[in-house]
Amino acid sequence: MATVVPKPEIGKEVEAYCNKCKSEMVHVVTKIKDNVINKVFCKGCNGTHSYKNAKAPTSKTTKKTGTTRGRRSKNWNTLMSEVSQDEVVDYDIRKDFTDVRAIQHKSFGVGCITKVMDVTKIEVVFEGELKILVHNWQ
Ligand SMILES: [Zn+2]
Repeated sequence: MATVVPKPEIGKEVEAYCNKCKSEMVHVVTKIKDNVINKVFCKGCNGTHSYKNAKAPTSKTTKKTGTTRGRRSKNWNTLMSEVSQDEVVDYDIRKDFTDVRAIQHKSFGVGCITKVMDVTKIEVVFEGELKILVHNWQ
């Protein structure tokens, strides 16, 4: 049984994902290497780029909404997406976390401080659970 993969030809049109156009575009093959399409010319942006047989990344049009209704449920992913890596401070019971946004806890991982309950207590959302931790402990 012979494989029926058509040989790539220069000048042939193929559909490929274009990073510039951000969509599936018609491309013209401009270079072939080892029987594999190497470079293509995009008809959308008139740009030449290396051919990747990759499909467009899973569209973000199907946004998952509705899981976090109201302000009660605190979603760790959502919280952490608003925190940059350099805002994460190593958790230490003696530190004052009043002005800290996120902590790194050695058992619970990275958590986002959602509330400073009082001078010695903070409410932290970890992935999957909410914890009350002690801080500023003298
Ligand atoms: Zn393009």
